[in-house]
Amino acid sequence: MLIWSNRCEYSPERYLLLDRDGVINIDRPDYIKHWNEFIFYPDALAALEQCRKQRIGVILISNQSALNRGLISLEDFWQLHHRMVQAIEANGGTLAAAFYCPHRPEERCSCRKPAPFMLLKAAQMFDIAMQEAVMIGDRPTDVQAAIAAGCRAVLLTRELATGQAPDSDSINPANVTRCSNLLAALADLVESVGP
Ligand SMILES: [Zn+2]
Repeated sequence: MLIWSNRCEYSPERYLLLDRDGVINIDRPDYIKHWNEFIFYPDALAALEQCRKQRIGVILISNQSALNRGLISLEDFWQLHHRMVQAIEANGGTLAAAFYCPHRPEERCSCRKPAPFMLLKAAQMFDIAMQEAVMIGDRPTDVQAAIAAGCRAVLLTRELATGQAPDSDSINPANVTRCSNLLAALADLVESVGP
């Protein structure tokens, strides 16, 4: 597991755990290997700005098997990460931390989602009460990880049109809110938690 944490700009009262690819940037079937393949969803940048304004701590929780598949070097990976952070901050947002699993599924590591390990590690490091946190992802594995970690799950369904529809049968609908974009998901979250 790779961990990056930011300087502490404010003490968040609540936290949003976000998947990366397919949530803040457009996912690719051949993985994100270069910065020029990293394309933000505009609503994601706006949502990250809202989070900063509302002092919500945002933590990325992301599987990045491209690393151990040898598709991107660790150096290039961190360079891409830092360019992403710079772009988020240039648009008024910020990240509190990022947790990345570099492993391939065959490595059977303990951190790769749907395992809750990265979420639990984030909770431990940032003293997050999991029952008050929300994980937003675009895949059933994000929902499974959230449920296993004891936090709320929001399934982002904006990829439905591209044929990457999540298998709804594998998700317990009672625990899952669905949202079509990140701004809507954030509005739902803020409304449900209160000011
Ligand atoms: Zn891992």
